[in-house]
Amino acid sequence: MSRLFYQTRLARPELDRAEGIHMWDVTGKRYIDGSSGAMVSNIGHSNPRVLAAMHKQMERATFGYRLHFQTEASEALAERAAALAPEGLGRVFFVSGGSEAVESAMKLARQYALSRGEAQRYKVIARTPSYHGATLGALSVTGYAPMTAPFDPMMRPMPKVPAPRAYLDGLDAEDPATGLHYAAMLEARILEEGPETVLAFIVEPVGGASTGALVPPAEYMREIRKICDTYGVLLIHDEVMSGGGRTGRFFGAEHWDVAPDLICLSKGFGGGYVPLGAVIARDDMVETVLDHGGFIHGHTYAGNPLACAAGLAVLEEIDTQDLTGNAARMGDVLASRLRDLKQKYPVIGDVRGKGLLLAFELMRDRASKAPLPATLNAHSRLVEIAYENGLILYSRRTRGGLSGDHFLVCPPMIVNAEQVEEIVDLLDKSLARFVAELPA
Ligand code: PLP
Repeated sequence: MSRLFYQTRLARPELDRAEGIHMWDVTGKRYIDGSSGAMVSNIGHSNPRVLAAMHKQMERATFGYRLHFQTEASEALAERAAALAPEGLGRVFFVSGGSEAVESAMKLARQYALSRGEAQRYKVIARTPSYHGATLGALSVTGYAPMTAPFDPMMRPMPKVPAPRAYLDGLDAEDPATGLHYAAMLEARILEEGPETVLAFIVEPVGGASTGALVPPAEYMREIRKICDTYGVLLIHDEVMSGGGRTGRFFGAEHWDVAPDLICLSKGFGGGYVPLGAVIARDDMVETVLDHGGFIHGHTYAGNPLACAAGLAVLEEIDTQDLTGNAARMGDVLASRLRDLKQKYPVIGDVRGKGLLLAFELMRDRASKAPLPATLNAHSRLVEIAYENGLILYSRRTRGGLSGDHFLVCPPMIVNAEQVEEIVDLLDKSLARFVAELPA
């Protein structure tokens, strides 16, 4: 028995090596990484230029504590990340993962409010379903009861509003009235809580694992920006999964041309080469906090030169290979092939997403949108079948909401048209077996 444990005792084969979109276990079996791990390995595995950049940095220094040294790598990565962000968001705080990015954004927001004499602002409104991380602060803004409920007494759960799941509510996502309808729920909640107590609103511009690549309806993103401005509420975009080019733009929110006050980044930012994340913040917010005694926060490994050198090389690959453009192009092809599978398999109730942040959702019945019975464990069964067929998928059952089992199909952004067809063929084969196993 392994001494290791994670969520469960789930035993997986031992990984031998990985290259491009492929991974091999020690028996020699090959898998297509159809979910880029957990939407992390965006530029593919074992990229030689990233490995070379890491080697070069390792030979200089692998660690320099941030309070003792600045490094060329961290300065260069901060410069590059800020250049990608909307105007006015020019300050970068490094962390080592998504949960740390969310914690840091919330703490910076709070200290900014304190610096401005708004001590009563502390509530961070979030959405249900949503996922913002596993640490207690990030869990307090996570709208997913199976993960939060056991810890409720240990944290201060934050107010939630429904995520705009137009497809489940039978609303037209293209109709601006739909976006305004869901955004109005945020305004109502701010008023109910007392606007003077609300610090921030946190949102995943394109949903990740919790909603299964939920794309906001027309006007939603712009309207929530307006509402936040009206009530002096800061807007945090959690781009941990949607950032890094996967949606076909570097930041998911670029599709709607809206700028937040704070951006959380991780996953594809380090590309699976190193644990890396960042908060990109409005310059004036950071200046205000630094003028009022400094930011009371930081993690030991933050901004270490090895992680930053790898992150910089990842961003260079995304740029020089136009991987964001490829994500948009291949995402269109894959989405259209997933819609073909929806035609073939009535059990697929919805296909959604942007670029290569794509998902499909299984339902018992498309008309009623009823989920498959939980006892079928469809989210894990289909993943197991696909795994046997050599395709890695990422799934979730959103028990916290109305939806059922959804599956993220998010191959690395280097995927080509031929490989997309191979992914779809493996998925087709897996769905055929899954459907054959369903009780009559
Ligand atoms: N935010 C979002 C949108 C995520 O998808 C995740 C992880 O899946 C996190 C935050 C937490 O990131 P991490 O697991 O690196 O702490």
